Amino acid sequence: MKTVLIYALLFFSTLFAAEPHLDKYQHTLSSTLLAERLQKYLIKDPQLKEYYELTDKTFTFYSSPVEKSPEFILHLIQKSESERKLTGKKIALDPGHCGGCYKYLEQRFIENGEHKFDEGTLTFLTALHLKDLLEREGATVLLTREGIGKGAYPESFEQWLVHNPEYLYNNLPPSQIFRKYYNPLDMCARAEKINQFEPDFSLILHFNAHSTDDKNFNLVFIPGAFKKEELLNREERYEFLRLLFSGDLELSEALSENIAQAMVEKLTVPLVTSEDLVTYLPSVALEIKPGVYARNLCLTRKIHSPLCYGESLIQNYPEECRKLATLDTEIHGIPCSSRLKEVAEAYFLGIKNSVS
Ligand SMILES: [Zn+2]
Repeated sequence: MKTVLIYALLFFSTLFAAEPHLDKYQHTLSSTLLAERLQKYLIKDPQLKEYYELTDKTFTFYSSPVEKSPEFILHLIQKSESERKLTGKKIALDPGHCGGCYKYLEQRFIENGEHKFDEGTLTFLTALHLKDLLEREGATVLLTREGIGKGAYPESFEQWLVHNPEYLYNNLPPSQIFRKYYNPLDMCARAEKINQFEPDFSLILHFNAHSTDDKNFNLVFIPGAFKKEELLNREERYEFLRLLFSGDLELSEALSENIAQAMVEKLTVPLVTSEDLVTYLPSVALEIKPGVYARNLCLTRKIHSPLCYGESLIQNYPEECRKLATLDTEIHGIPCSSRLKEVAEAYFLGIKNSVS
């Protein structure tokens, strides 16, 4: 018995003696680096993987693959601050529309045979995935609305109607009351939330539709292109001067150009051209770069940061419609199209290319 104890002590003393040489690596290495070294240099037989467990936080090495008693535990570092390109950046995301129960009132839905979806749901799930990608890279992210079927205005449309019944007496259909009176309040609430957050930049996420179903393209907007009747009130004139003085226009252009290019690359869908006959563009917008247009929308004007207002893809283009309606993945447990993740990755790539 005594001999066993001495051998046991000898064994443990050898193990402990080795530790100081390995302990110096505590909190210095990342999970990614170890995974690469194991795979590229160290593991010949797959059975060796039974000797260790690698998570984001720890590397646990066992003395035997059977007993799995830890012989050495290395505490890892999370992705280092220098690797995280967006550390300290504040980014606001506005998923366009409300979706869900409001899809008919806001008239933003596709129902094409068995292919059914609504834009407000697509934008919300895309923003949710983009938020995850940005936070992993160190950014602090604001979403202007909290769920599908929700806007940013504190009252729902129904609650607002109860407090403002006069809108019911003008014989307008509910959809027009929603779009003409409630929606502008929601737009202001979105801009206010974003401006209080004081972001480094903002993204407004939309999916596009076209008058015909034979085209598919991407398009992004930045602020600008005021028309003569758009400086009548003081707020509009203030925003005009802010844009003239602040430098946000050039930053919005650079960000939006990167996002437009990333959309082409990630979605393999081209940028809009004059041949796509987007009839409103010549009358309301200024072409700044291919696919990047200045346009005086409520949110391009009211948001006080560099921004990109994205109109990705044409939802009613048959092939795109099929892709967007295919529920082949999920985001936060909600079944959806993997196309949404590709759109989020396009915005993410565009942002990363703008800060490097
Ligand atoms: Zn939209």
